[in-house]
Amino acid sequence: MTFDLPSPRGALTPNRPLDSLTWLRVGGPADWLFQPADAGDLADFLRQLDPAIPVFPIGVGSNLIVRDGGIRGVVIRLGRGFNTITAEDDRVIAGAGALDAHVARRAADAGLDLTFLRTIPGSIGGAVSMNAGCYGSYTADHLIEVRGVTRDGREEVLTPADLRFAYRHSDLPEGWIVTEAVLRADRGEPDALHRKMADQLARRDATQRPGSAAPVRPSATRRGSARPGGKMTRMS
Ligand SMILES: Cc1cc2nc3c(=O)[nH]c(=O)nc-3n(C[C@H](O)[C@H](O)[C@H](O)COP(=O)(O)OP(=O)(O)OC[C@H]3O[C@@H](n4cnc5c(N)ncnc54)[C@H](O)[C@@H]3O)c2cc1C
Repeated sequence: MTFDLPSPRGALTPNRPLDSLTWLRVGGPADWLFQPADAGDLADFLRQLDPAIPVFPIGVGSNLIVRDGGIRGVVIRLGRGFNTITAEDDRVIAGAGALDAHVARRAADAGLDLTFLRTIPGSIGGAVSMNAGCYGSYTADHLIEVRGVTRDGREEVLTPADLRFAYRHSDLPEGWIVTEAVLRADRGEPDALHRKMADQLARRDATQRPGSAAPVRPSATRRGSARPGGKMTRMS
């Protein structure tokens, strides 16, 4: 597909193979891969982008299968500009590109318990979108609010009520890109939280083959294979 695109500050790469950006290491190219510099860059880009062009946010691809034919439109992946993690009182503010494991560790350093995130191999954007969870805790249990950008380039804040979380699912609006999440966490003693995560990792490594994938359950969601022109399937 050829089309005119805005000129952002971040990286815009044509015909970018996606296999190296997914957990399963398979999949053809995106027409364009956009890695915005920051939320303002993302908003400007989407505001100027022809509304007819599909956009597909991806995290670190741990819940995606991209077909060999690739993806028509613009795939958006949040990088360095979206990786900050800060702890304030009983809450953690995490960029959507931050890895769940990093957020769990940084939270523990600050004496905050987000240990359920430690063994989930995704990003915070993916965790919000998929209501990621482990050991009986889910993202929905901790989320205070989520900041993001709409398909037409407006910066917005959504609450858990807006997202109507269910098991491994959220009602994130079509084309909405999560840029940051604010999570509430219980207090804990940092050493104890780090020990708890070490136990979780040991248990995972004892039961799960390294490099294996979570069970594949193709879904016909708004970002799934049923979408016209879409070439991605979510795994759960
Ligand atoms: C070995 C293995 C173990 C796993 N264990 C668990 C587990 O214990 N618990 C669990 O819940 N899941 C688990 N998963 C599934 C997966 O890790 C989670 O669903 C994770 O939250 C996906 O995050 P991601 O960044 O990889 O998202 P991706 O796979 O890249 O994308 C998943 C969905 O999120 C959307 N998305 C991603 N980023 C954004 C964003 N910034 N804005 C809007 N939408 C976005 C994508 O459009 C897509 O629909 C596992 C997967 C594997 C491979």
